[in-house]
Amino acid sequence: MTSHQGIVTEVGSRSVRVFVAGVGTFRCTLRGNLWNAESDESKPVAVGDRVAVLTEGGEDGVVESVEERKNRLARPQPGGRDGLRKGRGGRTNQVQVIAANIDRLVIVSALVDPPFREGLVDRLLVSAAMEGIDPVLVVNKVDLVPDGLQQAAGLLEPYRRERLPTFATSATSGVGIDALRQEMSAGISLLVGHSGSGKSSLLNAVSPGLRLGTGVVADFHGRGRHTTTRVSLLALGSGGFVVDSPGFREFGLGDVPQGELARLFPGLHELPDGCRFNDCLHRNEPGCAVRAAVAAGQYPQSRYEGYIRLLDELAAERAR
Ligand code: GDP
Ligand code: ZN
Repeated sequence: MTSHQGIVTEVGSRSVRVFVAGVGTFRCTLRGNLWNAESDESKPVAVGDRVAVLTEGGEDGVVESVEERKNRLARPQPGGRDGLRKGRGGRTNQVQVIAANIDRLVIVSALVDPPFREGLVDRLLVSAAMEGIDPVLVVNKVDLVPDGLQQAAGLLEPYRRERLPTFATSATSGVGIDALRQEMSAGISLLVGHSGSGKSSLLNAVSPGLRLGTGVVADFHGRGRHTTTRVSLLALGSGGFVVDSPGFREFGLGDVPQGELARLFPGLHELPDGCRFNDCLHRNEPGCAVRAAVAAGQYPQSRYEGYIRLLDELAAERAR
């Protein structure tokens, strides 16, 4: 019997696949004591979990233990909410963990085709903050416009000032791909963004061995819809892993109370507080320290407007 440390790359109904660096991939069952009836999760391991496995020479093994996670992306267990299928112990409120231990959320926009949408970028940045995942911004397809690189740099400038890593790329011409490959060469990345922005193309450019399908309209499953999602972890040729999840590439905000938004919006929480009302939404309340900071040039007006736009969206969603 040999013990290895590995990372879970696929989760099936009876077994999981575990990748052990320098050794190979094992098909593993789960040690019985990993199943915890108290857990809110439908399975004790997820893609991205770091595990200890015992193997006996062949390709099979047993997962003995799971390391504590730094984060998890979860959604309601399919069929769980409406009680069609109860989870373990009769629980109906279980979640399915899409992936664990994600080190960076790579937010991909196109410069054009589809057009750049600041609102979507902000939503995804807030989602990243909510989930405890470091965001990285990519503006792709810079080859489609004559001064594309400069235009992308202009769009990325306010985010760079908030100290976010930013990349202007073309999956077609190869501009910016080396830098992105370097950024993704350690840990686990998850690419998100509007369908057609070039996520699959970028991954193929970063790691040509992957040969992901591109240009097909993604089978997009909206939030909360009860569909099963196939998720796997792919090893990049240059190091690092990427979560491949065709049904989970655009994910927006979960339930963010409006009062929490300022804490999650990039750069805003760093402003001095001191608003007259402690539940100030920084919209038009009197004595608002955030609006004073914007007026004094301590926070960009355009970013503040992005915050208000998202606040309005959250209010509209709540009203629906
Ligand atoms: P995804 O839905 O985000 O995975 O986007 P895809 O990778 O499938 O790309 C959508 C379309 O845009 C495909 O037709 C790609 O060939 C094209 N595309 C992707 N990246 C670039 C790029 O940098 N430049 C240009 N001109 N086209 C691109
Ligand atoms: Zn305020």
